[in-house]
Amino acid sequence: MLALNSLDALDEGRREPGIRFPVTCPICARAVLTELPVALIAEALIVRSSIRLHAGCHDVYWNASELEVEQIRSYLGAGVLTVISVGD
Ligand SMILES: [Zn+2]
Repeated sequence: MLALNSLDALDEGRREPGIRFPVTCPICARAVLTELPVALIAEALIVRSSIRLHAGCHDVYWNASELEVEQIRSYLGAGVLTVISVGD
């Protein structure tokens, strides 16, 4: 992940680039922002492992549903991952 590491210099105080996106809290159904490292999301999408989401309002964690994974994928930017998965 050399490309991601190079971003560290641009954003001191953060260890890795993150992506911030809204999720729906399973307890109160409120839309809250959560943030996950880009590298973690990218890897989870590639190997199809589950993505752990967090809602700060109730400090609750859960695994992203298929729908949520698709939303996260679009937030991340389709281009990044289609380059990897589309061999052509
Ligand atoms: Zn909540």
